[in-house]
Parts: sequence; structure tokens; C-alpha cells
Amino acid sequence: MSTDFGIKGFLETSFLDWPGRLAAVLFLGGCNFRCPFCHNAELVLAPHLVPSIALGDVLERLRPLRGWVDGVVVSGGEPTLSPHLPELLGRLRSAGFEIKLDTNGSRPEVLAKLFARGLVQAVEMDVKAPLEPGAYTRLAGVPARVELIRASLDLVSLSGLPHRFRTTYVPGLLDAESMGRLRRSLPAQSPFAVQAFDPRRVLDPALSTRAAPSPADLRAAETAAGVFVA
Ligand code: SF4
Repeated sequence: MSTDFGIKGFLETSFLDWPGRLAAVLFLGGCNFRCPFCHNAELVLAPHLVPSIALGDVLERLRPLRGWVDGVVVSGGEPTLSPHLPELLGRLRSAGFEIKLDTNGSRPEVLAKLFARGLVQAVEMDVKAPLEPGAYTRLAGVPARVELIRASLDLVSLSGLPHRFRTTYVPGLLDAESMGRLRRSLPAQSPFAVQAFDPRRVLDPALSTRAAPSPADLRAAETAAGVFVA
């Protein structure tokens, strides 16, 4: 009997999901956060309603792309929740692909095991808010354990793997000052990106009427977070 790896989406090629690389992307269902700005609400709230894609079919579609596609991004939802993640990554590695893992950083113990086994070649970790319980809970949508987020960002930044931290800037929930506090809690040498909140697809309907950040607002947030703006 084949395992259901919880693969709910598959993009054969993307230039956006692994900076500097052409990558395929797998989306796994389920998440332990409820970020109000999340744009994958269906994957988070009702993954059982999204049909799974068999790993065999994914590998079949990936085979002709070897040599074109540099690697596979495993995203979510939150991939570290899947008990089958090590086997999934192992199968992708055996098929000749490098892996970039996207994570919300809530399960450092899983990250540590994956890194130790050489199953991950790059990491992108969402940091939702300054590492303060109140702020984090507001942006994650659930009571958040910031000590776990801290442990993950230490693991990621000390892993020796190419990595990047990123934050979705949601006006009204974050401001330039909190972006500065957030950035100062990350290792200065770690790359950091700010992405703009998009109200068109959000988990919390209350956010759907909120305006996306203006270019000036976003630039102020990036500047406060020390992101170079050309
Ligand atoms: S944005 Fe938040 S709720 Fe959505 S998948 Fe990522 S961590 Fe989960």
C-alpha cells in the first residue's frame, strides 16, 4: 500500500520559490498556525478536502525535468507536521533533487533531525512578528511558543545551509517600529526579506477589506528592518 504523503499541490517549475533557482514546488496540507493573512486557507483549514497527489505521479512528472529544475521546494501548510516528511525528502533526494524546505519554525526538533540526515539543502523560515508572545500570537493566529521559534531560527542560522528569513508585512498588525524589533532579533548576517500582505486571498475574512501596504509604507517597513531598497 502506498503512503499518502499529504501532497496537495505540485508546481513543475517556479522562479519565485527558491531565489536564484528554477525549482519545482510541493505543497503539503495542514498547519498548526492560523495566520490571519495566510493565502493558503484551504490547505490550512481543510486539507482533507483537497485530493492528495501520489508521490509516484510527482516523481514521474519530475523525471524529465532533471537537469532543468535545480531542486524541489517543499512548502505548505507546514511541512514539519507530516510524519512522512523524512521519507518524502529521502525519496526526492534519491531521485536526484536538492531540497529547499519552507517552514514556520514551530518544530525545531524536526528541523534538527532533517538537517542531521542531510535531507535539506536550503531553508526559508517565516518569522511572523517580533519574538514576543503577544505579537507572535496575533500574527500566528494561535498561542505561539516563541522559545520554539527562537530555537528554530538559531538552528537555521547556524546550520551552514543557505537560508533566508522572511516576514509578511501586514499594516495594522505590524508597523515600521515592530519590523525593526523583529529584525534585531534575527542574526544580522542572515538574509531577510519582507513580503507585502495581499488582501485578495486571506484566511481571516476581516483582513480582506484591508488595503495592501502602499509602496511608501512597505519601503518604510523594509528600511526599518534593514532591507536594502534599490
Ligand atoms: S501563513 Fe501561517 S497559517 Fe498559512 S501556512 Fe504559513 S504558517 Fe500556516
